[in-house]
Formats: sequence, C-alpha cells, structure tokens
Amino acid sequence: MNKKSDQKALNEQDFLLNYNNSQQDAKRSAIILTLVVLFIFMIWDLLFLGWQHPATANILWSRAILTFPPLAWLYYCCYSDELIKRFDFWCFITAFFIGISILYNIYQYSQIGHNLRVDGLLLYTFVLYIIPGFFQKHKSWCGILISLGYLLLAYGLEWPHEKLVYGAVYLGIFNLAGSWHSWNNDRKTKNDYFSHSLLKKLALTDQLTGLYNRHGFDEKLNQLMAKADDNGGLLALVILDIDYFKRYNDSLGHLVGDQCLMAVSADLLSQRRNENDLVVRFGGEEFLMVFYQEDGELESLNRHIREICPAIAALDIPHPSSDIADIVTASAGASIYRAKSATQRTQLMLAADSALYRAKQAGRNQTRISEDH
Ligand code: GH3
Ligand code: MG
Ligand code: MG
Repeated sequence: MNKKSDQKALNEQDFLLNYNNSQQDAKRSAIILTLVVLFIFMIWDLLFLGWQHPATANILWSRAILTFPPLAWLYYCCYSDELIKRFDFWCFITAFFIGISILYNIYQYSQIGHNLRVDGLLLYTFVLYIIPGFFQKHKSWCGILISLGYLLLAYGLEWPHEKLVYGAVYLGIFNLAGSWHSWNNDRKTKNDYFSHSLLKKLALTDQLTGLYNRHGFDEKLNQLMAKADDNGGLLALVILDIDYFKRYNDSLGHLVGDQCLMAVSADLLSQRRNENDLVVRFGGEEFLMVFYQEDGELESLNRHIREICPAIAALDIPHPSSDIADIVTASAGASIYRAKSATQRTQLMLAADSALYRAKQAGRNQTRISEDH
C-alpha cells in the first residue's frame, strides 16, 4: 500500500518535472507576447497623458519596474535546467507582480482624475489563463486575488456602484472561463503524459518479469558506454542462460516455468550494486546484465560477476530433470568494456555470447569471462 502511494508520488513528481520542462517555445512566445502587450500599454499611457504630464514618468516607471524584471527572470528560467523545474512557481510570482502593477497603475490614474475601465485587467486575465506551463490552480488563485484587489480598490476609491458591478461580473466570467479552459487543458496534458509513459513502459519492459526488454536495453547500454567513456570506468556485459530450462518446463509445466523465471529475475535484480547496473530479459530464459564500475577496478568487477551463478543455485529451486544438479542452475558469459576502447557493442555481445557457450560446454552452472578484447 505504502509502496503504491510512493510510486504514485514518484509518477506525480515525474509529471511535474515534465510539465515544467515541456512546451518551451510556447512559454517563450507567451512571455514575449506579454512584453508586447505591456509596451502597447506604455505607448497608450504616452498617447493618453502625453510627455509633459507630471504623472507620465511615474506611471511608466512603475509599469517597467514591477513587470520587466520578473518577466526577464521568467525568460531566463526557460534556459536554466534548474530554474525550469519550478517554472510554475516563477510564473505565479511574475503574474502576481504584473497584476499588482496594473492595480497600482489604476490607482495612479485615479489620483490624477481618471477612472480607468476594467478592460486592461480583463486583457491581463485572458493572457494569464493561456500561459502554458502554469497550473490552473495557481492561475486561478492569481486571477481571483488580482480581481478581488481591483474590486477593493474600486470600492476604496468610491467608484460608482454600476462600475463595481460591471467589473465584478466581467472579471468573474473571465476567471471562470479561464479556469475551466485551463483545468481541461491540465487534465488533458496529464492524461496524455500518463498514457504516453504507460506505452513507453510497455514498449521498454518485459511483461512477465518487469525487467527491461531489448529495446530498453539498447537505450540504456548506449548511455552507460558514454558514461564509462566520460569517467574512465569499466563496464561488464553478462549474458546468463538458465540450464536445461526446456526440460524444466517439460517436467513441471510452463506456469511453474514462469514462476521460476520471475524468481530468477528478482534475484538478478537484487544483485545490482547501484542504479547504474542493469538487468534485462533478453528473450526466453536468457538475461543480460550490465555492471558499471566507475573506479575501473577490474578485480572486484570480476569477483562480483562470478557470484551471479552461485546466487541462482542458492535459490534452491528444485529441478527434477537437470543433468548436473537437482536444483535450477544457470551459466553465464561476460565481456568487459574499457573506457574509450574501440570495442563496439556487437563485439561485446559476441564476446559475452561465446564466453557463455564455453561455460555451457565446460559443464554449465559456471561463469566464463572473455579476455579477447
Ligand atoms: P541449455 O542448458 O543449453 O540452455 O538448455 P535449455 O533447455 O535451457 O535451452 P533452450 O534454449 O533450448 O530452451 C529454452 C527454453 O525456455 C525453451 C522454452 O520452453 C523456455 N521458455 C522461453 N520463454 C519462456 C517463458 O516465457 N516461459 C516459460 N515457462 N518458458 C519459456
Ligand atoms: Mg537459451
Ligand atoms: Mg538455457
């Protein structure tokens, strides 16, 4: 139960990370659009009041100071791997500052005898709700707080009653419509994300054992080889094959065979030493393992590889028809990849495979490590 909720929380975290990291172009475009709208407001200030008016400079400065720095910061976040993880939060801060700046401008205008209409705030509310990468919950909070701020301000400034009602109705409609649209959008984004990750999981993992399958392996091995090259580490590729498994199936049935495969998979997984090590179901009763040795220590890597087959035997699963023991055993072949060696992955596979062949020839239930490259 606990494990399930942990997993759910992890998936949610993945989703959050993905949500914050996605639609970069659309985010940048929305920031630029907001800047353009602000410039239009400032030009309007100039045309409306004129250069000479004593309030013009103050209004322009307050617009610029409250909005440009947060927008520039938000734009910068799009280029920072760390900051983008909290894009939603920075959006909230920026949107809040812009809202406050609009309220402040409305106040400044009222001080010089102009009661501005609600249109600017409506435009703000509209843009707020179409910003990508900003959760509906936070958008709605921002929109509602700024709208309430407007109504309080209008009330404090003793604007006519109809103006208050007019503002409240329009802001209410815009916030409701925006929240509904964003809620739908967030829900769709979430559903798409989870069905995409489910498909990806199905494509990359094996149904019976939950281990990576070949496709998952290809992707991971490339990453690990690159990592070994960067850090001067070693990689061991191990192919493990259960001995006389066809006979096991024949004598106990496929269902028991499946259970045996699951037990072996679980044991192989437990033999990983860290999150870089990899276990893959390569096909039928064959498994691939990749062990990553960052310090390049060949001896301890070899020692670990040699412990794999004895650990399978130690599971003590009865095998009624094996030629070599009365329990399930496995044979393994391994090859070693050294950082920046010219060895290709197919050579690695071939070397491990021929080592496995030698282990089988030599009587099974043992490991051979290739020294060929
Ligand atoms: P060796 O010691 O030489 O490896 O002999 P073996 O019998 O293990 O080798 P072989 O490759 O001939 O047999 C593999 C068997 O694995 C054949 C098939 O019955 C069984 N097998 C493959 N996939 C599954 C599976 O998903 N479930 C079960 N129960 N058996 C499977
Ligand atoms: Mg086989
Ligand atoms: Mg076999």
